[in-house]
Amino acid sequence: MGRMDYAAQRKAEGETLKYFIEDPGTGTLYKRGQLLGKGAFGRCYKFTDMSTNKVYAVKVISQSRASKLDNRGKVEREIELHSQLKHRNVVGFHRHFADQDNIYMVLEYCSRKSLAHILKARKTLTEPEVRFYLKQIITGLQYIHQQGIIHRDLKLSNFFITKNMRVKIGDLGLATREEQANRRRGVVCGTPNYLAPEVVAKKGHSFKSDIWALGCIMYTALTGCSPFEISHKQEMYRCIREGRYPMPSNLSPSARELIGKLLAPNPAARPSLEEALNHPFFIQGFTPTRLSSRTCHSAPIFSLANPLRKFFQKAAKVLFRGSPCQESRTVNLLPQKETLPQGLPQCPVVEHPSLEEEKGSVNITEDPSNYPIRLLMKGSLNNSWSAAEADAKWTPGSVIEKADQVLQTCLKTIPLVEQNHRYQQQASSVRMVTKWVDYSNKYGFGYLVSDGSTGVLLADGTHIALCPQRQ
Ligand code: ADP
Repeated sequence: MGRMDYAAQRKAEGETLKYFIEDPGTGTLYKRGQLLGKGAFGRCYKFTDMSTNKVYAVKVISQSRASKLDNRGKVEREIELHSQLKHRNVVGFHRHFADQDNIYMVLEYCSRKSLAHILKARKTLTEPEVRFYLKQIITGLQYIHQQGIIHRDLKLSNFFITKNMRVKIGDLGLATREEQANRRRGVVCGTPNYLAPEVVAKKGHSFKSDIWALGCIMYTALTGCSPFEISHKQEMYRCIREGRYPMPSNLSPSARELIGKLLAPNPAARPSLEEALNHPFFIQGFTPTRLSSRTCHSAPIFSLANPLRKFFQKAAKVLFRGSPCQESRTVNLLPQKETLPQGLPQCPVVEHPSLEEEKGSVNITEDPSNYPIRLLMKGSLNNSWSAAEADAKWTPGSVIEKADQVLQTCLKTIPLVEQNHRYQQQASSVRMVTKWVDYSNKYGFGYLVSDGSTGVLLADGTHIALCPQRQ
């Protein structure tokens, strides 16, 4: 089919798709909404289940396209593999159905598109963000591998982002069972950039080829470009086989080391997913427990003031809730070593036996607010928190003294932490219109800027703007 015919056919497919679509098996009626994107086989639309009002992303593949060549097998395999997966870091597969025109895959809707969209807006991501996303991706991939499935097409555009910024691995279009991959070793598939050396050498895909792709993804997210650029295909393949790529010096030593391990030319030398998660890059660096949706378009500033406030609120709660004057109550500011995850810098654990709902302990290691505390423990406070104090029992008075010490040290440490003014500069200098309403043919044009200011350009040329404080 010629290029024009092909384009015309695809256009026609979109235009003939009905607005109300019924699943003939269950009678469920869906209303078709906006087009979310176009894929290799079809289009993806927002669908609303009319009986529950639930919103889904539905992949629509025309029967005529599915029937061509070996497409039907591919679509069936995607459905067969994806429909058996159920994990918080894998795009949910709700059901599939077909009518005489199309095949429909009803998927969990991820309203913030993909990591590729975020990277496009941001150019590069910070290491804490990369840890945040990669941890979830690795957890999802561990599950997929446990089911005996190799994804084979891991890339930023296949990591979908939900409304609350959780990552879901999607698009199982090139996935295969491991035993099948072994049988068809010569098959080269996947995105050219992320082909592993063994795939280039036609030795077939394995679980370790997915781990190679993770190395490419981590590199791309941190540097903004792929480790192996495509300009000359043969040269690119040579670099892939030899594991040769430029390593930017601005990455942290642990990030560089992990990338090096993931991109080992010999698959056997690459770490397992579990080993990757236990690498110092993940263990020692700060990982936010959640990310604001603002980070889709501007770099986060990991505030130290708020976590500290939380720390002191907790300390105050532990000290003064119940009967504030019980001097006999003891508080141990130091961790029980065996309760800490291995490799983590030691953090204070405040214990309080009488607080039932807190089960006697507030483990600061699991709280995002422990970041400054961790820094302190790694830095100057480490010395003052000597081993001799480890078993000491603290009265509320001495806890307050300790808290004061923490605060003093924090104040000294904060400027060091914020040496990286880049984040702040980026966040304050880049302002974008995040929402707008265009009534310019009648009244004017209203907008909301990412720094919180709003404004209206009225049709007569008047410009009214409100600063973020709305004054
Ligand atoms: P392909 O398989 O060729 O990569 P897809 O059909 O999976 O393409 O997806 C096409 C586009 O639809 C994607 O680029 C994405 O923008 C959108 N999309 C796919 N799945 C979802 C989803 N679960 N939630 C939101 N958007 C999605």
